[in-house]
Amino acid sequence: MEKITLLTKHRKAAALCSALSGCGFKLCSETGFDTDQLSTFSGARSGATSLRGTALQKAKLGAELGNTRYGLGSEGSFGLDPFIELTPWNTEVLAWWDRVEQYAVYAFVQGPETNFNRKFVDSVEEAERFVTQCKFPAHGVIIGKPGEVDYYQDLANTEQMKDMLVRLLPQSAVWLETDMRAHRNPTRMRMIERCARRLAMNLRSACQVCSKAGFVAVAQIPGAVCESCGAKTAAARAELFNCLSCGHEEERKLSSLAPASRCDHCTPVKRRPRISAPRRRDSPRVLPLR
Ligand SMILES: [Zn+2]
Ligand SMILES: [Zn+2]
Repeated sequence: MEKITLLTKHRKAAALCSALSGCGFKLCSETGFDTDQLSTFSGARSGATSLRGTALQKAKLGAELGNTRYGLGSEGSFGLDPFIELTPWNTEVLAWWDRVEQYAVYAFVQGPETNFNRKFVDSVEEAERFVTQCKFPAHGVIIGKPGEVDYYQDLANTEQMKDMLVRLLPQSAVWLETDMRAHRNPTRMRMIERCARRLAMNLRSACQVCSKAGFVAVAQIPGAVCESCGAKTAAARAELFNCLSCGHEEERKLSSLAPASRCDHCTPVKRRPRISAPRRRDSPRVLPLR
Protein backbone atom coordinates (compact mmCIF):
# COMPACT_ATOMS: atom_id res chain seq x y z
CA MET A 1 0.00 0.00 0.00
CA GLU A 2 1.10 3.57 -0.68
CA LYS A 3 1.46 5.90 2.29
CA ILE A 4 -0.65 9.06 2.33
CA THR A 5 -0.26 11.76 4.99
CA LEU A 6 -3.23 13.52 6.53
CA LEU A 7 -2.68 16.80 8.33
CA THR A 8 -5.17 16.87 11.20
CA LYS A 9 -5.66 18.09 14.74
CA HIS A 10 -9.13 16.66 14.99
CA ARG A 11 -8.74 12.90 14.59
CA LYS A 12 -10.32 12.75 11.15
CA ALA A 13 -8.37 9.61 10.23
CA ALA A 14 -11.13 7.48 11.75
CA ALA A 15 -13.55 8.67 9.05
CA LEU A 16 -11.07 8.29 6.18
CA CYS A 17 -9.05 5.11 6.79
CA SER A 18 -11.44 2.52 5.48
CA ALA A 19 -12.32 4.21 2.17
CA LEU A 20 -8.66 5.08 1.48
CA SER A 21 -7.34 1.61 2.28
CA GLY A 22 -9.98 0.24 -0.11
CA CYS A 23 -8.12 1.96 -2.96
CA GLY A 24 -4.59 1.13 -1.86
CA PHE A 25 -3.59 3.91 0.55
CA LYS A 26 -2.36 3.56 4.12
CA LEU A 27 -3.29 6.71 6.02
CA CYS A 28 -0.68 8.29 8.35
CA SER A 29 -1.80 11.21 10.54
CA GLU A 30 0.50 14.20 10.98
CA THR A 31 -0.67 16.02 14.10
CA GLY A 32 2.32 18.33 14.72
CA PHE A 33 0.94 21.18 12.60
CA ASP A 34 -1.80 23.55 13.73
CA THR A 35 -4.31 23.23 10.88
CA ASP A 36 -6.37 26.04 12.42
CA GLN A 37 -3.69 28.41 11.09
CA LEU A 38 -4.97 27.57 7.63
CA SER A 39 -8.63 27.84 8.57
CA THR A 40 -10.96 27.46 11.49
CA PHE A 41 -13.83 26.58 9.28
CA SER A 42 -14.08 28.74 6.31
CA GLY A 43 -17.01 31.04 6.83
CA ALA A 44 -20.51 29.90 6.25
CA ARG A 45 -20.60 31.28 2.74
CA SER A 46 -17.23 30.24 1.42
CA GLY A 47 -17.64 28.60 -1.92
CA ALA A 48 -16.33 25.24 -3.02
CA THR A 49 -13.36 26.91 -4.71
CA SER A 50 -11.90 28.39 -1.55
CA LEU A 51 -12.63 25.20 0.38
CA ARG A 52 -10.80 23.31 -2.32
CA GLY A 53 -7.84 25.71 -2.06
CA THR A 54 -7.53 25.21 1.70
CA ALA A 55 -7.92 21.43 1.42
CA LEU A 56 -5.20 21.36 -1.25
CA GLN A 57 -2.88 23.49 0.90
CA LYS A 58 -3.33 20.99 3.75
CA ALA A 59 -2.74 18.04 1.41
CA LYS A 60 0.51 19.56 0.07
CA LEU A 61 1.77 20.36 3.57
CA GLY A 62 0.81 16.87 4.73
CA ALA A 63 2.87 15.19 1.99
CA GLU A 64 5.82 17.47 2.78
CA LEU A 65 5.75 17.09 6.57
CA GLY A 66 5.08 13.37 6.43
CA ASN A 67 7.65 13.01 3.64
CA THR A 68 5.29 10.86 1.59
CA ARG A 69 4.47 10.98 -2.11
CA TYR A 70 0.77 11.52 -1.35
CA GLY A 71 -1.01 13.99 0.94
CA LEU A 72 -4.63 14.33 2.00
CA GLY A 73 -6.40 17.52 3.10
CA SER A 74 -9.91 17.95 4.50
CA GLU A 75 -11.91 21.15 4.83
CA GLY A 76 -15.54 21.89 5.66
CA SER A 77 -17.89 24.84 5.81
CA PHE A 78 -21.20 25.41 7.57
CA GLY A 79 -24.01 27.78 6.93
CA LEU A 80 -27.46 27.79 5.36
CA ASP A 81 -28.52 25.84 2.30
CA PRO A 82 -27.68 27.49 -1.04
CA PHE A 83 -31.29 27.32 -2.33
CA ILE A 84 -33.60 29.12 0.07
CA GLU A 85 -31.15 29.74 2.90
CA LEU A 86 -33.30 28.24 5.62
CA THR A 87 -31.78 24.87 6.47
CA PRO A 88 -28.38 24.38 8.13
CA TRP A 89 -25.97 23.03 5.55
CA ASN A 90 -22.57 21.31 5.57
CA THR A 91 -20.11 21.21 2.68
CA GLU A 92 -17.06 18.93 2.86
CA VAL A 93 -14.10 18.76 0.51
CA LEU A 94 -11.19 16.33 0.38
CA ALA A 95 -8.04 16.98 -1.65
CA TRP A 96 -5.67 14.18 -2.60
CA TRP A 97 -2.24 15.37 -3.73
CA ASP A 98 0.46 13.51 -5.70
CA ARG A 99 3.76 15.24 -4.92
CA VAL A 100 5.66 13.43 -7.69
CA GLU A 101 3.19 14.07 -10.53
CA GLN A 102 2.15 17.44 -9.03
CA TYR A 103 -1.58 17.08 -9.46
CA ALA A 104 -4.67 16.83 -7.27
CA VAL A 105 -7.92 14.86 -7.19
CA TYR A 106 -10.87 16.24 -5.23
CA ALA A 107 -14.09 14.96 -3.72
CA PHE A 108 -17.03 17.02 -2.58
CA VAL A 109 -20.24 16.32 -0.63
CA GLN A 110 -22.87 18.66 0.73
CA GLY A 111 -26.24 18.40 2.46
CA PRO A 112 -28.50 19.23 5.38
CA GLU A 113 -27.02 16.48 7.58
CA THR A 114 -25.57 18.79 10.24
CA ASN A 115 -26.40 20.06 13.74
CA PHE A 116 -24.81 23.47 12.95
CA ASN A 117 -26.50 26.08 15.17
CA ARG A 118 -25.67 29.12 17.31
CA LYS A 119 -27.46 31.62 19.54
CA PHE A 120 -27.40 33.91 22.58
CA VAL A 121 -29.19 32.46 25.61
CA ASP A 122 -30.61 34.37 28.58
CA SER A 123 -31.34 31.49 30.95
CA VAL A 124 -30.11 28.06 31.95
CA GLU A 125 -33.40 26.55 30.70
CA GLU A 126 -32.97 28.11 27.27
CA ALA A 127 -29.39 26.82 27.17
CA GLU A 128 -30.57 23.32 28.09
CA ARG A 129 -33.15 23.33 25.29
CA PHE A 130 -30.50 24.52 22.83
CA VAL A 131 -27.87 21.94 23.74
CA THR A 132 -30.41 19.10 23.68
CA GLN A 133 -31.32 20.14 20.15
CA CYS A 134 -27.58 20.12 19.29
CA LYS A 135 -27.28 16.52 20.58
CA PHE A 136 -24.95 17.56 23.42
CA PRO A 137 -22.96 15.94 25.03
CA ALA A 138 -22.49 13.35 22.22
CA HIS A 139 -21.82 16.44 20.05
CA GLY A 140 -19.67 19.28 21.42
CA VAL A 141 -20.97 22.74 22.30
CA ILE A 142 -18.83 25.88 22.65
CA ILE A 143 -19.47 28.72 25.12
CA GLY A 144 -18.52 32.26 24.11
CA LYS A 145 -16.56 33.51 21.11
CA PRO A 146 -12.82 33.23 20.34
CA GLY A 147 -10.90 35.92 22.20
CA GLU A 148 -13.52 36.31 24.93
CA VAL A 149 -12.47 35.60 28.52
CA ASP A 150 -15.04 32.85 28.90
CA TYR A 151 -14.53 31.17 25.54
CA TYR A 152 -14.62 27.46 26.34
CA GLN A 153 -14.56 24.60 23.83
CA ASP A 154 -14.34 21.50 25.95
CA LEU A 155 -17.60 21.27 27.88
CA ALA A 156 -17.98 17.66 28.94
CA ASN A 157 -21.53 17.52 30.37
CA THR A 158 -24.64 19.50 31.28
CA GLU A 159 -23.53 20.03 34.91
CA GLN A 160 -20.33 21.73 33.80
CA MET A 161 -22.29 23.89 31.37
CA LYS A 162 -24.79 24.91 34.07
CA ASP A 163 -21.95 25.86 36.44
CA MET A 164 -20.49 28.17 33.81
CA LEU A 165 -23.84 29.68 32.90
CA VAL A 166 -24.76 30.40 36.53
CA ARG A 167 -21.53 32.38 36.76
CA LEU A 168 -21.84 34.16 33.39
CA LEU A 169 -25.56 34.86 32.95
CA PRO A 170 -25.93 37.55 35.64
CA GLN A 171 -23.50 39.68 33.61
CA SER A 172 -24.97 39.25 30.13
CA ALA A 173 -26.54 36.86 27.63
CA VAL A 174 -24.20 33.99 26.72
CA TRP A 175 -23.25 32.86 23.22
CA LEU A 176 -23.54 29.13 22.54
CA GLU A 177 -22.63 27.36 19.34
CA THR A 178 -22.21 23.83 18.07
CA ASP A 179 -18.63 22.58 17.95
CA MET A 180 -17.97 21.67 14.32
CA ARG A 181 -14.51 20.18 14.86
CA ALA A 182 -14.67 16.62 13.54
CA HIS A 183 -13.67 14.85 16.79
CA ARG A 184 -16.45 16.66 18.68
CA ASN A 185 -19.11 16.20 15.99
CA PRO A 186 -20.12 12.65 14.98
CA THR A 187 -22.57 14.00 12.37
CA ARG A 188 -19.75 15.84 10.62
CA MET A 189 -17.55 12.74 10.89
CA ARG A 190 -20.18 10.84 8.89
CA MET A 191 -20.17 13.54 6.19
CA ILE A 192 -16.37 13.31 5.99
CA GLU A 193 -16.70 9.54 5.70
CA ARG A 194 -19.16 9.98 2.83
CA CYS A 195 -16.73 12.37 1.17
CA ALA A 196 -13.95 9.78 1.58
CA ARG A 197 -16.06 7.16 -0.22
CA ARG A 198 -16.61 9.65 -3.05
CA LEU A 199 -12.86 10.33 -3.18
CA ALA A 200 -12.10 6.60 -3.34
CA MET A 201 -14.54 6.31 -6.25
CA ASN A 202 -12.85 9.23 -8.03
CA LEU A 203 -9.41 7.73 -7.50
CA ARG A 204 -10.57 4.44 -9.01
CA SER A 205 -11.70 6.25 -12.15
CA ALA A 206 -8.62 6.39 -14.41
CA CYS A 207 -8.03 8.65 -17.40
CA GLN A 208 -8.01 6.72 -20.69
CA VAL A 209 -5.25 8.90 -22.11
CA CYS A 210 -2.68 9.18 -19.29
CA SER A 211 -4.07 6.39 -17.03
CA LYS A 212 -3.76 8.56 -13.96
CA ALA A 213 -6.34 8.43 -11.16
CA GLY A 214 -9.16 10.95 -10.88
CA PHE A 215 -11.06 11.19 -14.18
CA VAL A 216 -14.28 12.82 -12.90
CA ALA A 217 -17.32 14.81 -14.00
CA VAL A 218 -16.74 18.55 -13.74
CA ALA A 219 -19.83 19.97 -15.47
CA GLN A 220 -23.33 19.04 -16.58
CA ILE A 221 -24.46 19.81 -20.11
CA PRO A 222 -28.14 20.83 -20.40
CA GLY A 223 -30.56 19.64 -23.09
CA ALA A 224 -32.25 16.48 -21.79
CA VAL A 225 -35.50 15.70 -23.60
CA CYS A 226 -38.82 16.04 -21.72
CA GLU A 227 -40.39 12.67 -20.86
CA SER A 228 -43.83 13.97 -21.74
CA CYS A 229 -43.59 16.19 -24.86
CA GLY A 230 -40.07 15.53 -26.16
CA ALA A 231 -38.92 19.17 -26.02
CA LYS A 232 -35.39 20.05 -24.95
CA THR A 233 -35.07 21.20 -21.33
CA ALA A 234 -32.43 22.73 -19.07
CA ALA A 235 -31.95 19.39 -17.31
CA ALA A 236 -28.64 17.63 -17.92
CA ARG A 237 -28.35 15.41 -21.02
CA ALA A 238 -24.64 14.64 -20.44
CA GLU A 239 -21.73 15.11 -18.09
CA LEU A 240 -18.36 16.55 -18.99
CA PHE A 241 -15.46 14.49 -17.59
CA ASN A 242 -12.03 15.99 -17.18
CA CYS A 243 -8.55 14.75 -16.20
CA LEU A 244 -6.76 17.21 -13.91
CA SER A 245 -3.44 15.66 -14.83
CA CYS A 246 -3.35 15.74 -18.67
CA GLY A 247 -6.45 17.83 -19.38
CA HIS A 248 -8.25 15.16 -21.46
CA GLU A 249 -12.02 15.83 -21.70
CA GLU A 250 -14.90 13.57 -22.60
CA GLU A 251 -18.67 14.02 -22.79
CA ARG A 252 -20.68 11.13 -21.34
CA LYS A 253 -24.38 10.91 -22.19
CA LEU A 254 -26.94 10.43 -19.42
CA SER A 255 -29.72 8.00 -20.26
CA SER A 256 -32.54 9.62 -18.26
CA LEU A 257 -35.27 11.81 -19.73
CA ALA A 258 -36.18 15.11 -18.08
CA PRO A 259 -39.28 15.14 -15.84
CA ALA A 260 -42.19 17.24 -17.16
CA SER A 261 -41.79 19.48 -14.09
CA ARG A 262 -38.55 20.80 -15.62
CA CYS A 263 -39.99 21.39 -19.08
CA ASP A 264 -40.90 24.92 -20.22
CA HIS A 265 -43.75 23.59 -22.40
CA CYS A 266 -45.33 21.23 -19.85
CA THR A 267 -44.63 23.36 -16.76
CA PRO A 268 -44.12 27.03 -17.64
CA VAL A 269 -41.46 28.68 -15.47
CA LYS A 270 -43.91 30.89 -13.60
CA ARG A 271 -45.73 27.82 -12.26
CA ARG A 272 -42.56 26.25 -10.96
CA PRO A 273 -41.30 26.80 -7.39
CA ARG A 274 -38.32 29.15 -7.60
CA ILE A 275 -35.47 27.56 -5.73
CA SER A 276 -32.39 29.00 -7.35
CA ALA A 277 -31.25 31.77 -9.64
CA PRO A 278 -32.24 31.22 -13.27
CA ARG A 279 -29.55 30.05 -15.60
CA ARG A 280 -29.17 30.26 -19.34
CA ARG A 281 -30.63 27.12 -20.85
CA ASP A 282 -27.61 26.30 -22.95
CA SER A 283 -24.79 27.04 -20.51
CA PRO A 284 -23.18 24.01 -18.87
CA ARG A 285 -23.61 23.83 -15.13
CA VAL A 286 -20.21 23.63 -13.52
CA LEU A 287 -20.24 21.00 -10.79
CA PRO A 288 -18.57 22.23 -7.63
CA LEU A 289 -16.36 19.16 -7.65
CA ARG A 290 -16.88 15.47 -7.59
ZN1 LIG B 1 -42.57 18.76 -21.89
ZN1 LIG C 1 -5.20 12.19 -18.21
